[in-house]
Amino acid sequence: MLMTVQLLLHITVATAYSIGVAASAPSSSTPAAGHSSLSKQDPEVCSLIEKEAARQRDGLELIASENFVSPAVREALGSCLTNKYSEGLPGARYYGGNEHIDAIERLCQKRALDLYGLSPDEWGVNVQPYSGSPANFAAYTALLQPHDRIMGLDLPSGGHLTHGYYSPKKKISATSIYFESLPYEVDATTGLVDYDGLEARARLFRPKLIIAGASAYPRDWDYGRMRQIADEVGAYLLNDMAHISGLAAARECHNPFEHADVVTSTTHKSLRGPRAGVIFYRKKFEAAVNGAVFPALQGGPHNHQIGALAVALREAAAPEFGDYIRSVKANAKALARKLVSHGYEIVTGGTDNHLVLWDLRPLGLTGSKLEKLCEAVHISLNKNAVRGDTSALTPGGVRVGTPAMTTRGLNEADFEVVADHLHAAAQLSLQLQALSGPKLADFVHEIEGSAEVRALRERVTEFASKFPMP
Ligand SMILES: *Cc1c(COP(=O)(O)O)cnc(C)c1O
Repeated sequence: MLMTVQLLLHITVATAYSIGVAASAPSSSTPAAGHSSLSKQDPEVCSLIEKEAARQRDGLELIASENFVSPAVREALGSCLTNKYSEGLPGARYYGGNEHIDAIERLCQKRALDLYGLSPDEWGVNVQPYSGSPANFAAYTALLQPHDRIMGLDLPSGGHLTHGYYSPKKKISATSIYFESLPYEVDATTGLVDYDGLEARARLFRPKLIIAGASAYPRDWDYGRMRQIADEVGAYLLNDMAHISGLAAARECHNPFEHADVVTSTTHKSLRGPRAGVIFYRKKFEAAVNGAVFPALQGGPHNHQIGALAVALREAAAPEFGDYIRSVKANAKALARKLVSHGYEIVTGGTDNHLVLWDLRPLGLTGSKLEKLCEAVHISLNKNAVRGDTSALTPGGVRVGTPAMTTRGLNEADFEVVADHLHAAAQLSLQLQALSGPKLADFVHEIEGSAEVRALRERVTEFASKFPMP
């Protein structure tokens, strides 16, 4: 569903953009690009961006994978670095004019290794992947042959699409098209990763690669156990720390590097950098990883992302970032506690990290409905499968994360207020569902006419607007 919505949004924006360009076709009086502000040159796109800025400012951003970057990161991201081609690696490019780009990429690599306390004798890092999914596919390309076997956490258990997801009808992730994938799962009663189940399956399946890491898992990982299972069956261990790379930078989770051969990550989630991906590798995989990123899968690096990532990595090395991450975790705990005190069911009963998985099935509510109602009251969160869900289309829960609003300065007491707003949203959803019946379209129709929804939206907007954007 997420994919579909994103695709539609993309088409909508692309359409608006092309209309805008047609409506203001360049004339002889139109200033050349770069000599006019966006508002003058392209009012259509400019006003859409302004609307998005207002949406971000006036709402509660609780999507666990999102964050708000600093003005310095945005400045680097919008800089002239986007103009430059630099295929290859620092010192070995296929284009000229790269002396400053080389310096930026080397600085970014050094800051990445330093941030995670990695010795350049043992580890290297490729900072060129465009995002987390391309980073993962490059890592697989480096370590595997086509049709080799992999095991990752199943999507309904909280794993990521790129960890090999396929449905009974369709191979959905390219990972499952080009490799043979068998998922492992969380335990249906505890909600914790079922390491024994993984071990039993791995003994039979004999994967070449086991992937640790998740997008919707509220607890920490036993990487030692993962390593022991990988060694037993002769598999590599890849750790995808996309969601928790900020926690790892602040040493606020188990060390994702200790037992892994390769560690992949996004840089725009709890790490609070630009949208991008990175691959850390033990030295013996250096040539394989670098060759997989370029020339196997990518062309020119996105130098504006690499420059902005260098800025974000410096921010993440500062002591204040440690304070930030400790608040992210304390806020998630406060949110979970308050939801539990309202009588709700939280998967695993709480959280060790930056997110809470809220099981709505005991209420007789789907994640889709609560997501819709929250959207109508300016709360962003997303529906999420919870253990035991049979259909990925009607997930039984929602995922709620604290990184973004913690960046805006919310503390534990504020997150208790957030929990109260979520409580109000859930109760209102139940009332509207009683009127609308089970169909989502009818439910959405009820939302549109509801005075209570409008009132809650006002309360949420007033609360959110108190907290400054970075
Ligand atoms: C978000 C995420 C990714 C993919 O990142 P994109 O930048 O969206 O491609 C990969 N793995 C995990 C575990 C993630 O949570």
